[in-house]
This record gives sequence, C-alpha cells and structure tokens, in this order.
Amino acid sequence: MLMRLLGTGNAPQIPVFGCRCRSCGRARVDENFRRRPTSAEIQTATGRFLLDAGRTDLADWVDPETLSGVILTHYHMDHVAGLFHMRWGVCDPIPVYGPPDSQGADDLLDHPGCLDFSHHLIPYEATQLTEDLTVIPVPIKHSRLTFGYIVKGHRESLVYLSDCDGVGPESAQMIRDANPNAVIVDCSFPPETGRNHLSLDRAYALAEELQAPWLYLTHIGHDLSNYLLDHPLDPEGRLVLSHDGLTFHFD
Ligand SMILES: [Zn+2]
Ligand SMILES: [Zn+2]
Ligand SMILES: [Zn+2]
Repeated sequence: MLMRLLGTGNAPQIPVFGCRCRSCGRARVDENFRRRPTSAEIQTATGRFLLDAGRTDLADWVDPETLSGVILTHYHMDHVAGLFHMRWGVCDPIPVYGPPDSQGADDLLDHPGCLDFSHHLIPYEATQLTEDLTVIPVPIKHSRLTFGYIVKGHRESLVYLSDCDGVGPESAQMIRDANPNAVIVDCSFPPETGRNHLSLDRAYALAEELQAPWLYLTHIGHDLSNYLLDHPLDPEGRLVLSHDGLTFHFD
C-alpha cells in the first residue's frame, strides 16, 4: 500500500497569485517547490482512492476506470475543487466517503453528476473500503465539520489530519492507540499566528500529545515556508516538512 501527497499547499497554494515573496518566487522558477492544493492518493493491491481533491487538474489525469472512490476530510473548497470537473464524468458512479455535512460546497451535492455523496462515515467507526484498506474517521478541530482519518493497511497505519487546529481527547486517544507509523498534519502558519489551522508551535505540541514518531507537515502557507527558510526544522526532530509527491510505502 502507498499514500502519495499530491498537494501540500494551503488554500492560496504556493506560489500565491501575484506574490513576490521568496517562497513564491522560488516556486515559480523551480517546480519542485510548488505546493498545490490539498490532495492525496492511496493505492492498495485492490483499490485506488483520492484522499481530498483540492487540485483542479484531477479530471485531466485521474482514470475513472481505476478510481475506487474519494475520501473527504471536509467540504472547504481547497479540498473539493477538483470534484467540480470530475462530477461531469462519463463513467460508473464513484463513491465519495466523508462527513455528513449537508451544506457541501456550492452546488456540489445538488448536482453530483457521477459522484455518489451518500457514503457518510460515522465518527470512530472503522469502515473497510477494500480487503486491504480500512479507514477510521476521527473528528478534529477546524472551522466546520471535519474528519481526520486513521488509514490502516494489514499491519501498519498512517494518520491524516488536514485541516486541523487540534484534536479533542477522544480522537487523540484513538490516534495514540492506533500507534501510527506517521501522522500527516495541517500546519499552515508560523509560530503563534493564525487560527483554524495549526501554527508551528502548536504542531510541536500536537506531536507530544499524540506521541507520534513523525509528524509530517502539510497544508503549508507561504508565510510558514518563508519562516522555515530562516529557521529550518531540526533534521533530528519529529517534525518533517512534506512536499508534493512525497510517498509513504507501508505493508
Ligand atoms: Zn508568497
Ligand atoms: Zn478547511
Ligand atoms: Zn484546507
């Protein structure tokens, strides 16, 4: 099984439209420093899923024939924008798993096209999506109903928390009990700034709380990116900066 991060930027992404800061300038000349909107994919021997779908180019290259479904953390536009193109696909219905948020995003739920949004997940309840993939939604703190996910293969597990401004005690306990190999978490802002998303100091605190061996930061904003140019993460530490294309292999 593998999980690949397809987009590790926050809603403005990097480069930000019109911005001439160091991080945005670097991303304009070197593709490797781009951070696209939040999207990831999970591949197993028996299925392929998108985990969030914020990239607007997904319809260009995702093959509906091999797509088993889409798993959503929440319905903010930077996590679902790619679905607005995919929904008009000419293909069998594609199941979308996620929180029971009747508002959705814009007219997505009223005009779902080929996407089947009826697969509401229940907090803390394991759902087996394929023979070798189980997800457990854990509610996390954000500005609207949002699930993090414990993603389990046969033996190993990852935890995905984006968007996130902290985790309540019940979700934290469940994450610790899952003993994940890595936690991927929203960290949008430099220390002591921002809200509804983690800042760097709060990400350190969450790593302690979850007792995570590795905390991979995603949903990165350009202000945090600039801060990290001057204050790089300790290479021996638990926090790791993710990048578009980062792939976790497990099982
Ligand atoms: Zn910038
Ligand atoms: Zn959000
Ligand atoms: Zn977001």
